[in-house]
Amino acid sequence: MLVPTTIKTLIDEQLPTDMRAFLHSAGECAESNGFRLFLVGGMVRDLLLGRPSRDPDLLVQGTDLTMNGASDLADLLASALGGEVTSRSQFGTAKLNVNGFDTDLITARQETYSLPGALPDVTPATIEEDMARRDFTLNTLAADLSSGSFGDLIDLQNGGDDLEQGTLRILHDRSFQDDPTRLLRAARYETRLGLHMAPDTEAAARRDAEYLGGISGDRIRHELERIFDEPQPELALGRAEDMMFFSYLLSTLEWGPELTRAAQSLRESGYETSPMLFLALLALPLMRDNPEALMTRLNAPVSWAAVIRDTYALRVTLPSLSVENIQPSTVYVKLAGLAPEAILAWSALAPYRSVRGLLLSFQMKWRDVKTHLDGDDLMSLGIPQGPEIGVVLQELLNARLDDVIFTREEEESFVRNRISSNEHT
Ligand code: ATP
Repeated sequence: MLVPTTIKTLIDEQLPTDMRAFLHSAGECAESNGFRLFLVGGMVRDLLLGRPSRDPDLLVQGTDLTMNGASDLADLLASALGGEVTSRSQFGTAKLNVNGFDTDLITARQETYSLPGALPDVTPATIEEDMARRDFTLNTLAADLSSGSFGDLIDLQNGGDDLEQGTLRILHDRSFQDDPTRLLRAARYETRLGLHMAPDTEAAARRDAEYLGGISGDRIRHELERIFDEPQPELALGRAEDMMFFSYLLSTLEWGPELTRAAQSLRESGYETSPMLFLALLALPLMRDNPEALMTRLNAPVSWAAVIRDTYALRVTLPSLSVENIQPSTVYVKLAGLAPEAILAWSALAPYRSVRGLLLSFQMKWRDVKTHLDGDDLMSLGIPQGPEIGVVLQELLNARLDDVIFTREEEESFVRNRISSNEHT
């Protein structure tokens, strides 16, 4: 692959018509209002690699160098193209929805860091300065969207050469110290795009991994989320482990090869490997106080905390499942209410085959079993309103789970028999 000087043809060949039209109209609208507009980041990189692109990122350079460029242009585009501005931030960004796709607009900015790992101080800047604050050279490629030079490639950091050679390279030696979340991003890009860090970049990553310890839980979680959303998150997680990133996040955290194998075997067996399954797998080896420590480290919101907590709860419950001839209804009571991701993770890694089978049966079958009859049906059959309704519904569910009864008629006779045997006692 030789990186071209314009990506106009790639835009024409690879992007859907409505996206192409949007980029042209956005460029024209920006130009006629005194802005310069560039397509930047993932979409330029992915077009050059011939990979499917996500939603576009647009860089806005205003004439007056204020941080409002993105927000002002988003308003102009929304009214010119019939879209909606869905959010704006104090860092000079705005989100625009046109024709159902989301576009991020970013005011060209410069960032300075008061401390390693701190949030940056942001000031308006030119495209050259904005590109110089980016994470890796291949993310600094930009395409001009002005009408006269539509598609012209701007390569200020030799990103083209690195892309050609499959090299992931930071822009300066202290890049990972400035922002250690770039370490996790590096693991993600390497494994997703089949790249290798340049030797200097890898040496800096190993040297600076300890800076991950100073990053806030929210920022770590954001990058983990991006990894969990990958088609094969286990590759990036394995790479992060090779580089010892997890131990710097939390000393007890580790992504062992058995977790990679578990993710792969679940996927190969056709189970849905959702993003949160990878959180469950990451939390699976943790014992005693460590799940709590992970929740604290990640400042875990309720949904993350539930997966981490349930993964540990299941570790504690597992021994009680390895009982001969255990009934499905008994398994159900122990597992109902636990996060599905925790159950799926343990279904690949629980110590006994029989227990793994029970977890899968619960997940795929028993979890969804419902009685045909509801509370109203029970009342019309003669069960009085009150707590007994709940008791009978549970008995019916147990009988259904244990394959004692199957049909609505069998449920009705189960209830009638119960009423008449109660009347005779
Ligand atoms: P992808 O994951 O495919 O790269 P993307 O390009 O949209 O998606 P984002 O994470 O949304 O990636 O970031 C957009 C751009 O912002 C990146 O291309 C990168 O140049 C820059 N960027 C994001 N995070 C950082 C960071 N921590 N440090 C420097 N630049 C960053």
